[in-house]
Amino acid sequence: MMSDNSDIDKYYDVVVVGAGPAGIGVGILLQKLGINHIILEKTSIGESFRKWPIETRFISPSFTGNFFKMPDLNAITPDTSPAFTLLTEHPTGEDYVEYLENLAKYYDLPIKTEVCVDTVQKKADSFVLTTNKGEYKSTYVIWAAGEYQYPKTNAFEGTHLCTHYSEVDSFSDLEGDEHIVIGAYESGFDAMVSLIRARKVVTLLDDGDYLNLVKSDSSYSLAPFTRDRIEYVADLFDYYTETKVTSVEFVNDTYLVKTANGQTFTSPQKPINCTGFASSLTLVKESFEFKNDYPLLNDFDESTKTSNLFLVGPQVKHKNALFCFIYKYRQRFAIVAEKIAKRMKVPSQAIEKAIQGYKDNNFYLTDLSCCDDECTC
Ligand SMILES: Cc1cc2nc3c(=O)[nH]c(=O)nc-3n(C[C@H](O)[C@H](O)[C@H](O)COP(=O)(O)OP(=O)(O)OC[C@H]3O[C@@H](n4cnc5c(N)ncnc54)[C@H](O)[C@@H]3O)c2cc1C
Repeated sequence: MMSDNSDIDKYYDVVVVGAGPAGIGVGILLQKLGINHIILEKTSIGESFRKWPIETRFISPSFTGNFFKMPDLNAITPDTSPAFTLLTEHPTGEDYVEYLENLAKYYDLPIKTEVCVDTVQKKADSFVLTTNKGEYKSTYVIWAAGEYQYPKTNAFEGTHLCTHYSEVDSFSDLEGDEHIVIGAYESGFDAMVSLIRARKVVTLLDDGDYLNLVKSDSSYSLAPFTRDRIEYVADLFDYYTETKVTSVEFVNDTYLVKTANGQTFTSPQKPINCTGFASSLTLVKESFEFKNDYPLLNDFDESTKTSNLFLVGPQVKHKNALFCFIYKYRQRFAIVAEKIAKRMKVPSQAIEKAIQGYKDNNFYLTDLSCCDDECTC
């Protein structure tokens, strides 16, 4: 890791924004390819995972299948395994930070912490990134700033009166015994289970019927780990389906949660907003074209609007294939790194050497029609 300011006036081939699993995952490949780069991180390595509530655990299981060419689902390189490093199947956020820090150290990644990127502008053939520490310049930018620290604040009126899931340090430490949870995707059910375990009374408001929606793509259906946890508390929470919240008001020391079907729920505690995340792409939205809130990318995950600007991480989407889990978006790190290396005329043998292990271990996805099937049973 870098600690002084000697990096600022240098020109980089690549600037990676964000040192979460996406930024570190692609950074390892740039390092293997010998590409001159820097990873700018606004706080510290794995910051989003540090901010997870202490009760939250990975829903995708870790298991060391690597040497049978089935790498750990939560690994960001083909030859590492959080299960092996952390000795747990469902890591906490803090556990996963340990895994990321190990990788950053092992690969000696050039990560500069406490540098917040505010804007990215393309001037002629270069990018200029303005940050709290000054300007950085590069030929390529890989955006890896994630979603977690950019909560969604427009799902209904009065979101500012709620506590967003990402603002919770610990569900058991929340004041009060009765809570309304708005939104029933993974984070809403996670909040509900953690609150029940802390012996609180929970009302969960779902704008659809997410619990009964079963699909084989984990991006569109609750994970088995979540369903197992729900089963343990099944009779202990009030669950309202098809109940879309339209507004939250604060009147006479009470929070009023109003819904599209005319109901009003009340609580003395701030409701917990689990309607999701807006994405860090809001910072660079002028550099991308969007369709249905997702950025348009070419086959190499490069912006269709700004050449040499790439995206890695959970916001990557191609047709119906949403790469929102680590085991999905890690399959695009080598695609991005290879494209940049080729443009930089890195010798093809060096490229093959760096990415062969990725190709051999399902870390290199080129067929973007992959995810349209349902499981047979
Ligand atoms: C409750 C919950 C459970 C989850 N469980 C799983 C799971 O079981 N399995 C799974 O695969 N995924 C899971 N996910 C999703 C997973 O957290 C994301 O896939 C992952 O965090 C995305 O990694 P990332 O590197 O793109 O973003 P992040 O982890 O958010 O990393 C982005 C980094 O960029 C930094 N940053 C942000 N803005 C700037 C800026 N302007 N300048 C500089 N740096 C910046 C941040 O500080 C952060 O360190 C879960 C998510 C949640 C919320």
